Amino acid sequence: MQQASKNKAGPAKNIVIAGGGFFGLYLAEQLALKGCQVTIFEKSQQLMSRASYVNQARVHNGYHYPRSILTALRSRLSFPRFVNEFRDCIDDDFAKYYLVAGSLSKVTGDQFLRFCQRIGAECDEAPASVKRLMNPALIDSVFTTREYAFDSHKLRDLMIERLSAANVRIVTDATVEKVRQYGDGLEVFTSISGQPETVYADHVFNCTYSRINYLLDGSGLALIPLRHEMTEMCLVDVPDEFKKMGLTLMCGPFFSVMPFPSAQLHSFSHVRYTPHNQWSDVASKSYEDPHIKYDQSPRQSAWGHMLRDAQRYVPGLSECQYQRSIWEVKTILPRSDSDDSRPILFRANHGLRGLHCVMGGKIDNIYDALHEIERLIELN
Ligand SMILES: Cc1cc2nc3c(=O)[nH]c(=O)nc-3n(C[C@H](O)[C@H](O)[C@H](O)COP(=O)(O)OP(=O)(O)OC[C@H]3O[C@@H](n4cnc5c(N)ncnc54)[C@H](O)[C@@H]3O)c2cc1C
Repeated sequence: MQQASKNKAGPAKNIVIAGGGFFGLYLAEQLALKGCQVTIFEKSQQLMSRASYVNQARVHNGYHYPRSILTALRSRLSFPRFVNEFRDCIDDDFAKYYLVAGSLSKVTGDQFLRFCQRIGAECDEAPASVKRLMNPALIDSVFTTREYAFDSHKLRDLMIERLSAANVRIVTDATVEKVRQYGDGLEVFTSISGQPETVYADHVFNCTYSRINYLLDGSGLALIPLRHEMTEMCLVDVPDEFKKMGLTLMCGPFFSVMPFPSAQLHSFSHVRYTPHNQWSDVASKSYEDPHIKYDQSPRQSAWGHMLRDAQRYVPGLSECQYQRSIWEVKTILPRSDSDDSRPILFRANHGLRGLHCVMGGKIDNIYDALHEIERLIELN
């Protein structure tokens, strides 16, 4: 059996990362910088082509989570760290407004303002020039906030450079199918361009997002309860007055429109219409591969519904020009359903010593697990 990467004499740990999204890449680099020999196996031909590309590109700064103070505070801590670390991938050249609806909202304007004060997030009454864009009959309050967007393509290119500098081995078109205990470590069964290959690792990190349970199912291990939604993110050209602007209507069945830097367009999502079909991974029924569900899902855009609803609140949005939709399976921890929280899922030694599952509901969640991971593999 091969080592996942050629192990020099000495105690360097051999690490396999399943999944070349942002989580897998970031973790790979951090572990390599601590002296580990790291190999990433990515199923697609390209890194960061799944959820790490198909998302709203919002660098969260807490505003989104008035119902989960813990997620809001974690976002506040991660925001400056992420923005500083990835400065060249950040678009901060737009104004971000949070709107609160007069009815159907789960928070009032006063509650939202108090919540922002509590978490220390900038939040001021928006200028009249912005308020006049809103329908006063439906919008209760408009706040100027500070929130940015990230360019996923720039982030990918930067991570590829950093991984090369850290000597991380990257294998694309490579699926990790199964993991089995082997002595003190793990035997890792992969399929590389359709050819089976088995490697050895001291630790395997399962960073496969919607497919965390694919590897567990293949290895005969207990599934982690997860809920999946087939989601549609519309990419649109907004009218000139909205070009340097992002809008999020809180907090309930509403919408967001904000810059999507990697396509030089705005993303448009709607709480009611972005999710299409949904399903759950539960132990009591046979496992369904989310990537197969994704391939087989009908892609009938809900753009018309999104726009019809949004333009009631912000009439000028009716002039948005729809360009295309991007689709992805969004994976959510069941407990997030009630409070809309986004904690990181981190399961150390899940079913096998050395097999660890990591999944975040936000791109910057990775910071929440780093310290634990370093401790786990005795790097400190
Ligand atoms: C619609 C939507 C909107 C979102 N909006 C935001 C937002 O605005 N801001 C934010 O911070 N977060 C947002 N998120 C969440 C964010 O996208 C995720 O937290 C993050 O991208 C997860 O990164 P990842 O590396 O775990 O997943 P991914 O980028 O999906 O990477 C997992 C990789 O694993 C690969 N893989 C799967 N199975 C295997 C296998 N067996 N072997 C090898 N490789 C495998 C996949 O091909 C994939 O490349 C959003 C997510 C979605 C879906």
